[in-house]
Amino acid sequence: MKDMPGLVKLFKQNGYRITPQRQHIFKILQGRSTHPSAEEVYREAVREMNSLSMQTVYRTLAELVDMGELDSLDLGTGMLRYDPNVDVPHHHLVCRSCGKVSDLYIDMGPLNLPEELKQGFQVDSSEVVFRGVCQDCMDGRSSGTGYQRTANLQHYRGRPHQPGVKRKYTNKETKEVS
Ligand SMILES: [Zn+2]
Ligand SMILES: [Zn+2]
Repeated sequence: MKDMPGLVKLFKQNGYRITPQRQHIFKILQGRSTHPSAEEVYREAVREMNSLSMQTVYRTLAELVDMGELDSLDLGTGMLRYDPNVDVPHHHLVCRSCGKVSDLYIDMGPLNLPEELKQGFQVDSSEVVFRGVCQDCMDGRSSGTGYQRTANLQHYRGRPHQPGVKRKYTNKETKEVS
């Protein structure tokens, strides 16, 4: 994501007015690595600027995504998450319990699909999502976002799995390539 003068210039070039509300939203997103949802951005923004509407937040986020300054990620956490880190390619670690999304910088090598598996697709991007349970959830100190907060995490803490209780998760890392 560009810095403030860069964003202001870009918005003007695209015919958008630069309002204090938009600038406030830029400030909240810049350098952010927590992948907030639109609602989280709104909640934080409205604390300092109570004239701000949810609609302005949605609109500004959509404009930033359109201009390539923000990524919107559907990582299966129940809501779209926004990532201003569009300049450095990276993957994500996703917590099944609290929905925390962390950046992961690892060179996985080229994820090239063999021609015969492409099914006619012209693939132009790919990412790997590692799912599991974050340290905070394992330690029982996550505040959580409500995403699968009721998960039974006992077996992650090394306690035996109770027979007859359906185990919801496995420790297996899942790999999704899109
Ligand atoms: Zn967690
Ligand atoms: Zn990210």
